[in-house]
Amino acid sequence: MDRFAEFDFHEAGLVKETEICKLCKNIVVGSGNLDADILFVGEAPGRNEDEQGKPFVGAAGKNLDKLLEGVGLSREDVYIANILKCRPPENRDPFPEEIGKHTPWLLKQISEIKPKVVCSLGNYATKFFLSGCKVDGMKEQQGITNVHGKIKEIDIDGLKIKLIPLFHPAAIIYNRKLLPMWEQDLEIVKKEISQKKLF
Ligand code: URA
Repeated sequence: MDRFAEFDFHEAGLVKETEICKLCKNIVVGSGNLDADILFVGEAPGRNEDEQGKPFVGAAGKNLDKLLEGVGLSREDVYIANILKCRPPENRDPFPEEIGKHTPWLLKQISEIKPKVVCSLGNYATKFFLSGCKVDGMKEQQGITNVHGKIKEIDIDGLKIKLIPLFHPAAIIYNRKLLPMWEQDLEIVKKEISQKKLF
């Protein structure tokens, strides 16, 4: 159990107020290195993640592992979390109210880990960060097709972070046409990591 399990129960309480928390088997807090310089943020746990209580352990997780391997990293080097901490039924899209109640926990994780780079995986995580972590502003943000691979400096509670939006690893499984763009984006992540000498 990592130190987020001891978080002040305000964040956990908010998550538990949402219906999806009553329906899920496990709250998937996140996993990895709490001293990591790089944080990956996905959308929400799926069936496998819900069963095992860990993020990205299913098919999309295999693509994430390939991504990490491609940039010379392993899961022990990074931290992995999601916008939602609980699986929405049938993997439906997150509701704004759920994002509002689950993301304070993610923001607390960010304030603890203090990552230098955040890779947002897919539309929900990307729009959340691009909106300045404001749920209400998410719908005005551009989608991942327009912003993938474009580095943006963001500020989260005074912490300067480089945001690198990436296609969601599950999208690569369903749409093989994304693969060349995904590979180009990995080069951008790789360059950023080596320039900053993160590891
Ligand atoms: N998809 C996500 O966005 N997160 C997971 O943890 C698994 C699949």
